Amino acid sequence: MTALSASNRTTAEWKKIDSAHHLHPFTDFKGLTDEGGARLIVRAEGPYLYDSEGTKILDGMAGLWCVNVGYGRKELAEAAYAQMQELPYYNTFFKTTTMPATELARQLVELTPEGLNHAFFAGSGSEANDTVIRMVRRYWALEGQPQRQVIIGRRNGYHGSTLAALSLGGMSAMHTQSGILPGFAHIEPPHWFQLGYHEDPDAFGVKAAGWLEDKIQEVGPDSVAAFIAEPIQGAGGLVYPPATYWAEIQRVCHKYGILLIVDEVICGFGRTGNWFGSQTFDIKPDLMPLAKGMSSGYQPIAAVMVGDRVADTLISKGGEFFHGYTYSGHPVACAVALENIRILRDEGIVDRVRTDTGPYFQKRLRELADHPIVGEVRGIGMIAGIELIRDKARHEFFDDVGKVGTIARDHSFANGLIMRAVYDTLVLSPPLILTHDHIDELVEKVRLVLDKTAHDTGVTG
Ligand SMILES: *Cc1c(COP(=O)(O)O)cnc(C)c1O
Repeated sequence: MTALSASNRTTAEWKKIDSAHHLHPFTDFKGLTDEGGARLIVRAEGPYLYDSEGTKILDGMAGLWCVNVGYGRKELAEAAYAQMQELPYYNTFFKTTTMPATELARQLVELTPEGLNHAFFAGSGSEANDTVIRMVRRYWALEGQPQRQVIIGRRNGYHGSTLAALSLGGMSAMHTQSGILPGFAHIEPPHWFQLGYHEDPDAFGVKAAGWLEDKIQEVGPDSVAAFIAEPIQGAGGLVYPPATYWAEIQRVCHKYGILLIVDEVICGFGRTGNWFGSQTFDIKPDLMPLAKGMSSGYQPIAAVMVGDRVADTLISKGGEFFHGYTYSGHPVACAVALENIRILRDEGIVDRVRTDTGPYFQKRLRELADHPIVGEVRGIGMIAGIELIRDKARHEFFDDVGKVGTIARDHSFANGLIMRAVYDTLVLSPPLILTHDHIDELVEKVRLVLDKTAHDTGVTG
């Protein structure tokens, strides 16, 4: 067996073939080809990526918010290799199971907040959220309230890219392009810096949670099935909730008896300094989709953790649940997820994010808050957003939303740091294994990016 990297194609040849035959996700196909094609990433180690030209890039996004233990962990490759030799595949449909699937369910129950005692496996976060929708509807049907169909999400919430998951989510560009399924409604996110900066953050948090109650009243309390949100809104621009928000959201959910779905696809597996964002924000979910950091991206795998309220009904009143995926509980992916959990736990990575590297990362990033182009720095643990603004004193944002973010993103790529831009917020979600030195390097690069961006846009403070 020879690795493709041993082939003697040139970078230009790879790019040409890619442009000719490969349609990339979330990409302007023609635009990418016009720019000369995709950058070819060939290897990675720790928090660094290397492209085919040998450029070393600090990955401030951990791939897509997922490579929590960093790149190059041989134990994960070995776990996959060992499992593939023993049993590369078997399903969990026909009243069968495999040891990795069973053990992973047990460990997830142990790690997740109390009351989540069952796991249902899927292959991606989008699939997990399709499963969530199926379970919510099944639950209410079995409870004799089949009219409870509406799931309320949030504007700019991201729950995946299948038709059902994008309907749960609140990305208007996706809605416009493909339409949205019936049975979904959305409220504004608790974005203090954009929607409530003239108010006390705690008062704003209560107000933002009140929008859920307003929406429940508008839809009709008897028609609402559930509310879904990420603990910290990720892909929608790093919206960090005010301290009062989650308690108030939970009060409203209880008042109306609706299910609370907490999408932990990004916040899970240590990103906020606890195993789950629900622990950081003291949330008690009824359903909790997981993916991304679950295997640190080394294998595609996801799960829905199911709380007792839903599980008891599905199990005791259920009959057959007509739902599942060929790769639900894939033994190789489960074996890798188990090894990933072992690394996160035994190496104290989650604890370090909470007590040491997370606070250091946040402290260093907040030093950028006095930069003329920076409106707000927000986040916790190893997740952060830097919102750019045109005029700080007047709280005036840039006119052409997203344009300046893109300029900054491009400077970042050109200077060896992968940072993402969501509208005009720069987003960081690096591997959890960053050392203080890595963090210093990252912050220095971000400052350079901010200087260059301020220069390009003429903002001088
Ligand atoms: C990425 C993401 C998803 C979708 O996961 P995929 O594996 O891309 O399908 C769902 N929810 C959240 C919060 C995410 O960030």
